[in-house]
Amino acid sequence: MLPKERYDEWLNGHDPEGMITHDINAAVTIADRVAIFYAGMTLEIASSEDFRGDGQALRHPYSKALHAAIPANGFRATPGFQPYSDNLPEGCVFCDRCDRKTERCLKERPEFRELRGGKVRCHHAT
Ligand code: SF4
Repeated sequence: MLPKERYDEWLNGHDPEGMITHDINAAVTIADRVAIFYAGMTLEIASSEDFRGDGQALRHPYSKALHAAIPANGFRATPGFQPYSDNLPEGCVFCDRCDRKTERCLKERPEFRELRGGKVRCHHAT
C-alpha cells in the first residue's frame, strides 16, 4: 500500500476518469467513487467516503469483507473463493462466501438497485 503522496506523484497532475485495481486502499485514496466487481458483476457502487471509518456505510457484504481486509482494519480474510464465470451459482454470485445468505439468495440473482446514495446487488442490504 502506498501513501497518498506516492499516488499523487504517480498521477503526476493527471485526472483519469477511471482506473481498475485490486488495491482497495489505492482506489479509495485516488477516486471519489468506487465500483466493486466480483465474478464479472458490479456488486456495489459507493463513495470512497463510505470505505473510510468503520465501514458501516457500505451496503454489500463483499464490500464489507474488502473493508475488513484492509490492514488498518484488521486484515481479516473472507474464507472461500470467487466462482468461475462458466460455473456461477444460480442466485447471488457471492452466496458461497456470505454469512447473511438465505434460501432466496441461493435461488434468485439480486437486481442492481439504488440504496442510500449508491447502488447494490444484494437482496438483504438495507
Ligand atoms: S444477496 Fe444474499 S448471499 Fe448475496 S450478498 Fe446479499 S445476503 Fe449475501
